[in-house]
Amino acid sequence: MTAIEPATPHLAQGGVWSAPGRVNLIGEHTDYNGGLVLPLAIDRRTTCTVTPREDRILRVTSTAGDGEAIELSIDELAADAVSGWSAYVLGVAWALGEMGSDLSSVTGLNIELDSDVPIGAGLSSSAAIECSVAVALNDLWSLGRSPMELARAGRLAENSAVGAPTGIMDQAASMLGEQDHAVFLDCMTEEAQTVPLHLEENALALLIVDTRVEHAHATGGYASRRASCEKGAAAMGVKFLSELSVDDLPELQKRVDDETFRRCRHIVTENQRVLDTVEALRTKGPLAIGNLLCAGHASMRDDFEISVPEMDLAVDTAMASGAIGARLTGGGFGGSMVALVRDGDVDAISAAVAAAFAGAGYTEPHSFTVHAASGARRDDSESTTT
Ligand code: ADP
Ligand code: MG
Repeated sequence: MTAIEPATPHLAQGGVWSAPGRVNLIGEHTDYNGGLVLPLAIDRRTTCTVTPREDRILRVTSTAGDGEAIELSIDELAADAVSGWSAYVLGVAWALGEMGSDLSSVTGLNIELDSDVPIGAGLSSSAAIECSVAVALNDLWSLGRSPMELARAGRLAENSAVGAPTGIMDQAASMLGEQDHAVFLDCMTEEAQTVPLHLEENALALLIVDTRVEHAHATGGYASRRASCEKGAAAMGVKFLSELSVDDLPELQKRVDDETFRRCRHIVTENQRVLDTVEALRTKGPLAIGNLLCAGHASMRDDFEISVPEMDLAVDTAMASGAIGARLTGGGFGGSMVALVRDGDVDAISAAVAAAFAGAGYTEPHSFTVHAASGARRDDSESTTT
């Protein structure tokens, strides 16, 4: 029987931590290509209430499930120890150990999740879980990890314990987000800066339309897009497509088949659009980014081919109803649209998209606005500390 240390003294009663979902403003599928992304953390969060135990068991529950509790000993943590939703939680604990944290004498925990991040809508309910758990474990187990290291632990959990081959974007946004700012992240260097959005002062809103078409990251489409990107990079003798610029595209076209070329062209042009969007936000303000958002959507629809008819209808309808810019956000094959709209147009655009969906016989979409919010944090007040 392992000797168990008492919980971190000031957290003897546990605590409450939370982390947000994210919406990606621009930079889709660039993350695993070593490229640039511009997500923002949103005001939809996963809350993780944790109390220490006297044994070595991690007991995980979620209000989203059927009430089942999943239990695993810290000594049994492994990448393949569990499957299903608890892998997002227990995978983070495993990942922190895998990354070198000594878990040999930490206490077991009861971990209760509650979330208002829509699940499977492309707003990264998965990273919200991982990051809320990562900050909680970091505090409770006194691991001393930086926010970016915790983002990496979340990614490792998602890649190895869940089996979804995603990049670092979702977890970085969930860790580093700030109110009314986007997170400009270079996925190669993992350097991040926040960029002011100035939405409120310009009477602008971000409208999300969840198309209710379910995506499946871990399977088919995502893996084949990654394979095409790797093929294009290999043909050009680079490790990552982000090392190429728009000027390299004619040469790439000579070296690969048409489909591979179009997949890679999306990545290379999207990387440039992220740079252009950051520049426009800094120099001209948010009204200047509409055409970049729309160009990003066209590239995902025609070159990367990750849109679906419901998404294209949402984007086209939003634009026809006065949106400043609109695009698919997230991994694609369903999920959500993000549109930059004037505050006063939110209701009319939402209604127009709903009417268009009804007319096409699609499932009713779910529309709501989001605001750029702060990243993962401890939520409870000092009153619960001793
Ligand atoms: P997204 O991150 O876009 O929402 P993912 O497929 O990456 O979609 O993650 C969704 C999965 O995360 C769900 O199928 C479920 O396993 C897990 N999940 C998300 N939110 C919760 C929650 N509140 N409770 C339990 N599991 C959740
Ligand atoms: Mg996810």
